[in-house]
Amino acid sequence: MGVERMIVVAGGEVLTANGWVTTDVAIEGGIITEIAPDIRGAERIDASGCFVGPGLVDLHVHFREPGQVWKEDIESGSRAASAGGFTAVVAMPNTEPAMDNESVIAEVSRRGREVGIADIVPAAALTIGRNGKEVVDLESLYELGIRVFSDDGDSVEDEAVTREIMTRLADLPEAVMAQHAEIKEMTVGGHMHGGGISRSLGMGALPSEAEVEQVRRDLELVAATGAPYHCQHVSAAGTLELIREAKQSGLPVTAEVTPHHLFFTDEQVASLDTDYKMYPPLRTPEDRDALVDGLTAGVIDCVATDHAPHTVAEKSVPFEDAPRGVIGLETAASATWSVLSDIDRLFETLGTAPRKIAALPERTIAVGATADIVVFDPNQSWVPQQYHSKASNSPFTGQELKGRVLTTIYRGEVTYG
Ligand SMILES: [Zn+2]
Repeated sequence: MGVERMIVVAGGEVLTANGWVTTDVAIEGGIITEIAPDIRGAERIDASGCFVGPGLVDLHVHFREPGQVWKEDIESGSRAASAGGFTAVVAMPNTEPAMDNESVIAEVSRRGREVGIADIVPAAALTIGRNGKEVVDLESLYELGIRVFSDDGDSVEDEAVTREIMTRLADLPEAVMAQHAEIKEMTVGGHMHGGGISRSLGMGALPSEAEVEQVRRDLELVAATGAPYHCQHVSAAGTLELIREAKQSGLPVTAEVTPHHLFFTDEQVASLDTDYKMYPPLRTPEDRDALVDGLTAGVIDCVATDHAPHTVAEKSVPFEDAPRGVIGLETAASATWSVLSDIDRLFETLGTAPRKIAALPERTIAVGATADIVVFDPNQSWVPQQYHSKASNSPFTGQELKGRVLTTIYRGEVTYG
């Protein structure tokens, strides 16, 4: 055991229970011990001009462990999370093998704790091997502490299977079905959003309807079963409308949007740079504007990265052959700030809301609270060039962003900055 050091985060605008207050925050033994002006301390972090709030939460990351650790592993993924201001991430179960049973999930949790620089929260698959056919033992996995269930990467399309999942999840408080909504049959041979640009390039299309119609079907089952439903990476304005209506009629529905869908459109995809290739695809400027409005208005609850690492070699192939997905942890807060410029909404969409959806313990800046903290400088502009992730497949590389994470503190230890 080393000697406990006190850290003082000094002079920032701090998100307290009483709103934003310019003050110091003292941390010792993993918890916040004092919030007051002018605290003396050995190790000082100058946060003047910066926002200081609870560590961020990402509901949607792919850390590739087990199975494809050359792309990313729990250690490199955790470092990327810390560099992005995150102290908790929900790891999607499309690993190899899939996280559809107790032993794989226990191993991911164990590795997360061993690395120990962010909470690695496993999501469990909805169906065995993510085959869309046989439902996993939802109840046993729930007993293990799993709250987010998803076959992400693929939709659960079969209606009887979806109904069974929702009926069983409805009996498990705080459990949620997270759906990657996409009707596969409508996307065969597709590589980018279906519209004028895909037609002019002669590129196979991924139509918005593949997402919209899947969500429409799902929401009917939510109305029938009462199960909480989380719509992953909403990309189309039509989906947003369905979510708006569902929320208005009181259904237990939440939704996320990725930073790249808030920022880019299919106009960038015309370059055929494979760092613009992901599912769901970047859509039209109208879709993008609708997503930004939806996030501002609260129709969309949170920003989630869908951090999907691939190697340079894997992405250095023709657009049609490239794997889908882009990384996003290290640029998410900046991209969101660049689009929203609303600090309360930033901490809601990347903190409070995803934390609640994943049923994680609350984090606040209060005396006695666990010291999971991010220091965010809203005035610094920067251009991402390299990453802590093993991967670099990001459309934000070379793109000027506003605002930057300066420091991340996880359980009282500085993990970034
Ligand atoms: Zn997905």
